[in-house]
Amino acid sequence: MNIYDKYEAVIGLEIHAQLSTKSKAYAADSTEYGVLPNTNVSPITLGHPGTLPRSNKRVIEYAVRLGLAVKSDIREVNEYARKNYFYADLPKGYQITQDKTPICTGGYITIKQEDGTEKNINITRIHMEEDAGKSIHDIDPTDSLIDLNRAGVALLEIVSEPEIRSGEEAYKYVTEVRRLVRYLDICDGNMEEGSMRCDANVSVRLKGSKEFGKRTETKNMNSMRNVQRAIEYEIKRQIDAIERGEVISQDTMNFDAVTGTTSVLRSKEMANDYRYFPEPDLQPVLVTQEYVNEVKRTLPPLPNDLYKKYISLGLSDYDAGVLTDSKEIALYFEEIISKTKNVKSASNWLTVQVKSFLNDNAIHISDFKVRPERIAQLVDFIDSGKVSHTMAIQKIFPKMMEELEKTPAQIAEENNWIQESNTDALAELAKQAISKFPEKVAEYKAGKTSLLGLFMGEMMKLSKGKADPKVASDLVKKLLDE
Ligand code: ADP
Ligand code: MG
Repeated sequence: MNIYDKYEAVIGLEIHAQLSTKSKAYAADSTEYGVLPNTNVSPITLGHPGTLPRSNKRVIEYAVRLGLAVKSDIREVNEYARKNYFYADLPKGYQITQDKTPICTGGYITIKQEDGTEKNINITRIHMEEDAGKSIHDIDPTDSLIDLNRAGVALLEIVSEPEIRSGEEAYKYVTEVRRLVRYLDICDGNMEEGSMRCDANVSVRLKGSKEFGKRTETKNMNSMRNVQRAIEYEIKRQIDAIERGEVISQDTMNFDAVTGTTSVLRSKEMANDYRYFPEPDLQPVLVTQEYVNEVKRTLPPLPNDLYKKYISLGLSDYDAGVLTDSKEIALYFEEIISKTKNVKSASNWLTVQVKSFLNDNAIHISDFKVRPERIAQLVDFIDSGKVSHTMAIQKIFPKMMEELEKTPAQIAEENNWIQESNTDALAELAKQAISKFPEKVAEYKAGKTSLLGLFMGEMMKLSKGKADPKVASDLVKKLLDE
């Protein structure tokens, strides 16, 4: 037996989501990204004596949104705590966070396994805190630079139970968290830009063992795939070490995306002593049931609920996945299907035609000018039999993007694209098409059936593209086989 198969990985993730509030967690400083360094920095952010922090209401709202979405218990009396530690980019010398009273406890994130089954990863807690500034070591040759614009920006820390069992599961968990915060409009979820960060706690144990092994905590994975890679590397590294008779030490590891390896950043053997104590400058915040209900009413439809709805409407797992991947696509689809009953065709139009148009033009659905209602009209128009699907794709759909105010029916009429389904008229055209190539007819009859395309082409030309291709092909074949 492979040595790796003897072990089981135990993984718990801590995700920091930077909230997209306009101002910071406890100060009115702007959170705007990309402005000159140290411009969004008030005395409150710096923790100067005599200044008082105030909690930002939006942060509480966003925490409640997320808590509701993952079915957490939401705490009524929320106290703040100071977590003290020295960091050059933490000018106050402490971080305002929540210690014993996280705003959300419990709840879960559902991930889909390869075999289609679902697994719930339980959430330990979600609490509110603030970000530190940014130390920059690679611009100046001799000095480290500090930008405190990010200091005090609101974060939610989402801590999972150690229930994740592989890098792949971790990838799915982070993907799901990102999709959720984007649906909820509380964080942009960009790991590459650091607005969502993930620390991976990893340990291994012999299968069947009840006790946890010693864990390491890996930081600095700037993409979801890197979270997976770092975890996979750590699992293997730990198993190899144990097999060599070594003991895992509880270290904080750094992940190097170029080499795909981890290395010790600092030893954690000495238990952290952050000296949490109650934040004296902030009153506890009361989150009433009424307030929670109010927030609940403003929640958008959630991706998992929409996914289930689409499956129940008969869409494939794949289509339901593509449609709910981003909130904007899902809401666009919701609008289409509020106006047409043909859900399957609506899904095809959106996931194939519209999406490839977006891809080809490198635009986002929010910049797509055609309204969902028009797509619904197009779906119904095709179903009415007045135009073929091919005609809709090749002619009507492109025209719809130029003539936004017109319905597909108007466009088709004005351009004379209404399909000839009058079989007599079409049969006449089929005869003409065939009579044009008497020698080819003989060849066809002698067995060269690939010539059908030639007659069909002629037939479509004669009908100026208006013949229903299916009907036309049946007619041509019938005549040739006579
Ligand atoms: P800390 O504050 O030191 O980071 P926490 O108790 O907040 O510690 O735990 C952090 C994360 O570590 C949680 O996601 C938890 O599920 C995970 N975790 C705890 N024990 C283990 C372990 N033995 N192996 C892997 N993950 C673990
Ligand atoms: Mg930790």
